[in-house]
Amino acid sequence: MFGILKGLATTFSTFTRQPVTIEYPDEKRDLPERQRSFPVLTWDFDHDEPFCTGCNICVRNCPVDCMTAVMQDNPKHPEGTSDRRKIVDKFWIDYARCMRCNICVEVCPFEAIVMDNNWSGHEHSVFDRRDLHKDIEDLLASSKSGELSRPFRPLDSINLNEAVAAGEETPEATFVAAMPKAREEQIQRIEQGLGAAIQEREPEVQTTTSASSESSAAEDDFAGLSERKLRARRMKAEREAKALLEKNEEVSQELLYVLGRTESTLYKEITGEDAPTTPVSSSTTAVEPSPASSNSDAGDPNSPRKIRARRMRAERTAREHIEKSEEVPTELMAILRDTESSMYAELGGTESPQVAENKTSNADNSTENSEGNANSPRKLRARRMRAEKEARELLAQGEPIPEELVERIKSLDGTVPSAESST
Ligand code: SF4
Ligand code: SF4
Repeated sequence: MFGILKGLATTFSTFTRQPVTIEYPDEKRDLPERQRSFPVLTWDFDHDEPFCTGCNICVRNCPVDCMTAVMQDNPKHPEGTSDRRKIVDKFWIDYARCMRCNICVEVCPFEAIVMDNNWSGHEHSVFDRRDLHKDIEDLLASSKSGELSRPFRPLDSINLNEAVAAGEETPEATFVAAMPKAREEQIQRIEQGLGAAIQEREPEVQTTTSASSESSAAEDDFAGLSERKLRARRMKAEREAKALLEKNEEVSQELLYVLGRTESTLYKEITGEDAPTTPVSSSTTAVEPSPASSNSDAGDPNSPRKIRARRMRAERTAREHIEKSEEVPTELMAILRDTESSMYAELGGTESPQVAENKTSNADNSTENSEGNANSPRKLRARRMRAEKEARELLAQGEPIPEELVERIKSLDGTVPSAESST
């Protein structure tokens, strides 16, 4: 009997006590301070734009590669309404892959991404995983709407927890620009007709009057370039011009213009004129063709420029043959001779009268100069390679290497090939 009464008492007390469950989703519990759902981007209410610059630091640090960010030039920067030169253009996070590790928030240098601390941050159930790919609008929505009451960031959270543990007053978050309060202030500014953004700087004065002409832009570019940048442009233009010359092609007027404006010595080599000291106006960007310039010798296969290009090409090919221990073909030797290449004599050719004349008349060509020195390292090397090749060929034909050839190779510090090495 007593047992029955005891059971009824338990039943009755359970029946009358307050429920421990709540009617989710109609009713929701307060979320703890340290909880975090998914990362979201924050909106800068002072400047009416995202904090994110699209710098990709978070993207590179995300352990599961679920983020993508695209940067663009900030159109507000030249207007003077923002200090951000760059701004995010596109941003995606795949919430289906995100593991909510918080790393992106920790590494962001601009406090542009935080962990959502709202119920809405948790409620992302969808029927298709692809709907969990969040774009920039989705990611900014909670911050822009003011829903993001206390963005979760590691430092804020640590300070908060330490204060709570010590029984102190909860500190204000250091990052307030994305807080609902900032949004309210901005709404008030808009209502007063003050505009959304803060004017922080004077608008930039546009130095380019018209962007319609490419040459005009190029001219302005030169006017504002630092020494380092001028040098970089000169080196680039010289590289391009040399490549064209080696291919025996015309150096374009635009390239000549850059060479002239950057005071490249190549300009004089090509045109035969000094580089212009004053800027060429946009309407006369093209350099006036000089007698020695590309246009004037366009039809002349023996112009100095074309001869030089032929000589350089032939020397390059001859060097390739020598490196492979091959004989330099007769046609190549003829080109070297005709283009007055110093390599012609080195390779055993008889100097053309022109070359000989040049050498005697040129005071700089001393006997110490490798061009006139029959025992220069380059020539010795060429002789050694020729001798070694000759010996290898004899061995390949099953013939002995003559004593004289062996002596020659040894005197040139070469290696006499043996039957074993040649196989
Ligand atoms: S929370 Fe972690 S996994 Fe998710 S986006 Fe950020 S870095 Fe990637
Ligand atoms: S969220 Fe931060 S780290 Fe990521 S791209 Fe934007 S500014 Fe860079």
